[in-house]
Amino acid sequence: MAGDLHTHTTFSDGSLQPEELVSAAKKIGLNYLGITDHDTVDGVRRLYENGLLPDRNITIIPGVELSVNNPAHDVHLVGYNVDIYNAALIEMLEKIQEARWERFSQIVKILQSKKYDIREGDILKIADTSRSIGRAHIARALVKIGAFKTVREAFDKMLAKDRPAYVPRYLPEVDEVIDVIHQAGGKVTLAHPKLIGNDELVEELCGKIDGLEVYYPCHKPEDVQHYYFLAKKYNLLISGGSDFHGTASRFVKTLGEFTISEELAKKFSSSLKLKFD
Ligand SMILES: [Zn+2]
Ligand SMILES: [Zn+2]
Repeated sequence: MAGDLHTHTTFSDGSLQPEELVSAAKKIGLNYLGITDHDTVDGVRRLYENGLLPDRNITIIPGVELSVNNPAHDVHLVGYNVDIYNAALIEMLEKIQEARWERFSQIVKILQSKKYDIREGDILKIADTSRSIGRAHIARALVKIGAFKTVREAFDKMLAKDRPAYVPRYLPEVDEVIDVIHQAGGKVTLAHPKLIGNDELVEELCGKIDGLEVYYPCHKPEDVQHYYFLAKKYNLLISGGSDFHGTASRFVKTLGEFTISEELAKKFSSSLKLKFD
C-alpha cells in the first residue's frame, strides 16, 4: 500500500488514458495517485465529468506540471489540488497550449526541410487525446517511420536543446505560475529538484513554494536526505512520485516500480484538503 504523486496520462505525453491509469493504480494497490499532466488538467477533468473522481477506492489528487522560464535550467513546478475550472488557471494553460501548437508546426517544418518524411497528421494520431502537444509525440512519430531507433535517440540527435530541430517555446515566469496555482486554490511543489542541477536555484525556489518532491526515482539516498532537510528548513510539504509516463525511455517503465509510503502520501494528501474528497 503506497502512493505515487507524480504521473502522466495521454492528455500530455503519457501512454495510458486517465481511466487506465487509475485502474492500473488500483490494481497494484496504490492508495494515493497524483495525476500531473504537463500544462493541462483535461485528464483530471475527464475523470471528474465522468463521475470517476472522487473514487471510493483510491485518493486521486488532481495536479498539473508546468515548466517555467529559466535561462539555464529546466524548472518544473507541480500544482496540486487545483480548481480545474479556475479562470486564471485555464487562461494560463490555454496560452501555454497555444504556444505548444505554434512550436509543433515549426518543428515539423524543420524536420520536413531535413527530408524526414513526417506530417502533422501522423503525429496528431500518436498524440491522441493530448492537449499538450510536445516533442515526445514528434519523437514517437520519428521512431515509427524508422528515422530513429528510440525516442531518446530522436531527442539526442534532433529535438533536444541545441539540436537541429529544437525550437524554444513560451514559458510562464515562476512567480506567475505560483500566483495562478494559489489563485486556483492549489499548492505548488518543485518537481525533481536533482534534475535542475543547481541547488542554489533549488533553495531560492524553496523560499517561494509550498512543497518539494523529495522522493524521485533518480534521487540517491543522500539526495533524499538533502532535499528532506531542505523541505524541513523551509517548512515545505514533502511529496514524491515516479513521473510515470508508460514509456520505456523514462525512469520507470511500469506503475508501482517507484512509490512512496502510505504514511507520506497520506500526510501530503491531507494537508491539501482535497476538493474532490
Ligand atoms: Zn518534470
Ligand atoms: Zn512529470
